[in-house]
This record gives sequence, structure tokens and C-alpha cells, in this order.
Amino acid sequence: MTSDKVCPLVDFHCHLDLYPDHAEAVARCEREGVFTLAVTTTPKAWPRNQELAAATRHVRAALGLHPQLVAERGHEIALWRELLPRTRYVGEVGLDAGPRFYRSFDRQKEVFAEVLTSCAAASDKILTVHSVRATKIVLDMIEKYLPPPRGRVVLHWFTGTAAEIRRAVDLGCYFSVNAEMLTNENRAVANRTFPLGRVLTETDGPFTRTAGRPSEPIDVWQAVEGLASLHGLGAAEVGRRIGANLKTLQDEVP
Ligand code: MN
Repeated sequence: MTSDKVCPLVDFHCHLDLYPDHAEAVARCEREGVFTLAVTTTPKAWPRNQELAAATRHVRAALGLHPQLVAERGHEIALWRELLPRTRYVGEVGLDAGPRFYRSFDRQKEVFAEVLTSCAAASDKILTVHSVRATKIVLDMIEKYLPPPRGRVVLHWFTGTAAEIRRAVDLGCYFSVNAEMLTNENRAVANRTFPLGRVLTETDGPFTRTAGRPSEPIDVWQAVEGLASLHGLGAAEVGRRIGANLKTLQDEVP
């Protein structure tokens, strides 16, 4: 199948600035018509991402401070706060309680609370949120600091339980799903299927691989196909629904 059968494609979480040629990665999204949310791992990276994205129809730049970098760069929350009024999209932010990052977990919680509180005050943000080994506490913090009327969260690579998925839905969250999530552990995926009305697609490129090389936004059609087979629908139908979900999400945060 070719990508033009599932139009529009949506890659709601991709690190375009981590490809060898950032400007070309942005230009390719534009040529191929893939709506791409270019996430950043530090606010210092946001201005250049914003500059490149601003000249496109299909790319948007999200303002992030990655939980895996909080140990060294937690102080950059000041710059993050300063830049926040200039963007509607926030990410990559969240929590990571994996063994390599657990030492900074208390600091991560402080930074994430500040991110959520600032977004709630602005009331017009859409966030892409990381929750490795921290699904419950991420939901607790969204409930406490950024309840549904104040913003919208897209849970990226979410691995919570079926009960946590229901809770996230009640909190207004969406889920961005990538091809690796759909192929790696089929039974688990089937047991915690995200409601299709809350699903977006992502690559998390260049951290995932397609055909033995780093995934690019256009490769997101593989996630569309994975969702189509999971739900017993055609890929074009799933692609249309994801495009509609993106529109709904954007309308929910005026
Ligand atoms: Mn990421």
C-alpha cells in the first residue's frame, strides 16, 4: 500500500531535529503532506524548530523538556516558561521512572507539575506526554494540575492497563500509537485497545526503525495499517478517522 491511500497522515510525535539534516526532514514532511508534530527535548531547541515549522503548512513545533534530561537540564524550565506563550504545542514532557532516570524522579515531578500548571493557566495547549513506568502518577498529575477544560494531553507510547486507559479517556486524553507498539506484543495490545475516537498516530522517529533504518514521518502509514488490522477496518478508513481525531483535538483547545 502507498501512503496516498491514507490521507492525511499524522505523525504526532517525531524528533525532526535529531535527523542528520533537520531542514530537509521538515521539508520532506511538507512535500509528502504528513502533519508532523516536531517535539523537542530541550527548550533551547525550540526556536530553530519553530523557525523551520513556521514556513510550512504541515509541521508544528512543540516546546519540550524531556524527563530523561531533567537531571542535567531541569533549570531550563525557566526558558521553557518564557517561550510557552509563543506555542500551542508542548512536548516532549512527562515522567520516566525507568532505572536510568529514577534518580531524578523527584525533580522530574517538580518540573512536570510546573509544566502542567503553566499549561492550565494558559488553557490553550496540546501536550505530548511521556510516561515510562509512571503511567499512574502521570494520570494523577494530569487530574490534579491539568483537568480537561484547561488543556489536552496526548499520551505518547502509553503502556498503561485497560483501567488506566479508561481513566485517561475520562481525563480527555488522546493516545498516539506507533507501529512498534502494535507489532511487539500483540496480545497485550489487544487487551488494552485504545478507543479509536481518541487515537492519533506517531513514529517517535528517529528512535523507532522501519525497514532497518530510522523511521521517518511518512512511515507512519505502518501504524495506520496496524490499527486497521487491530480494529478490522480498512487502512483508508482508519486514516480518515485519525485525521478527524486531530481536527477534533485542535477544536477542543481553541
Ligand atoms: Mn520521543
